[in-house]
Amino acid sequence: HCGFIAIVGRPNVGKSTLLNRLVGQKLSITSRKPQTTRHRIMGVDTRDGYQAVYVDTPGLHIEEKRTINRLMNRAASSSLTDVELVLFLVDGTLWTPDDEMVLNKLAKSQLPTVLLVNKVDNVKEKYDLFPHLEALASKMEFVDVVPMSAKHGTNVDAVEKIVRKHL
Ligand code: GDP
Ligand code: MG
Repeated sequence: HCGFIAIVGRPNVGKSTLLNRLVGQKLSITSRKPQTTRHRIMGVDTRDGYQAVYVDTPGLHIEEKRTINRLMNRAASSSLTDVELVLFLVDGTLWTPDDEMVLNKLAKSQLPTVLLVNKVDNVKEKYDLFPHLEALASKMEFVDVVPMSAKHGTNVDAVEKIVRKHL
């Protein structure tokens, strides 16, 4: 029960907040190093006999545009084969072209991906994702879709359950 889980999404969707929920501050070993390795380890959850290593995968990361071209050719091949599952995090209140770019890369990678619709606590005020859902579903199939709030901890247990199923 051990493996790499990639947390992927454009800046500001709530990746760090989710990570802190998943591994807790004490367990997280974040690294600010640039993409010198295939994956940047963000944190490890070793509870209940599982070992989930949460990583930031440069090839799927929108902030690192320079490496994307290089890694895109390798997508779905060696650089990503050790990722058991991708958590694709989006902000339910704000869909942007950057989300679209991440989605396209994930679709190409053909990795098992869970769509996490974050910030549902704010969705009543603003729900920007709805008009884009059809396009999302047409581009790739998701293992699961989970509405959640990293900030409030809503449905984080459901995310953990899905992760453990894939370890
Ligand atoms: P990252 O850039 O993807 O790592 O995003 P962060 O984790 O740094 O979060 C970006 C901002 O969104 C911060 O101000 C968070 O407090 C906020 N945020 C994260 N998750 C939620 C959520 O579930 N609900 C709301 N309302 N805000 C959130
Ligand atoms: Mg962050």
